[in-house]
Amino acid sequence: MLSPATAFPYRRPGCPYCGHTIDHWPKEAHVQSCRLCLRPMILLRWPTDWNGPKRLRGLLDVGFALYGLLTIALVAAFIVTGLTPHAFAKGFSVLLFIIGSVLAADGVLGLRTGMDRTGKQLRSGRPARVLAGGKLVAGSAAIVLLCIGLAL
Ligand SMILES: [Zn+2]
Repeated sequence: MLSPATAFPYRRPGCPYCGHTIDHWPKEAHVQSCRLCLRPMILLRWPTDWNGPKRLRGLLDVGFALYGLLTIALVAAFIVTGLTPHAFAKGFSVLLFIIGSVLAADGVLGLRTGMDRTGKQLRSGRPARVLAGGKLVAGSAAIVLLCIGLAL
């Protein structure tokens, strides 16, 4: 049963990552972890649809989307405003930090829970752990590159 203090009094949304139904979400909370896959989710309190599952987003998906948008913005800034290659490299390091931490967090949680979602496919067990390990390695590599970028 839903508690009266939940932010979802009418419809119960599923986890954006694994689809597990969210039983309880404290009204004032913005970020919670899924009980099943442990991925953090962020509750967007706007715009219009206040009770629908659409405003619940995976925090890792948000990071990934942010990474995509900032990459486009950085490349556009490079072309339009003539950023120096040095400034471009610095900007790129920030992007590596975002994608590196998203991948590493997803990898660690994937190894812990044995659940992984890559693209639209959710895997569990051994294949999920293999993919999660790959993400952790890729995320760590991005953070190493970031350190090199910052040292430039
Ligand atoms: Zn989940």
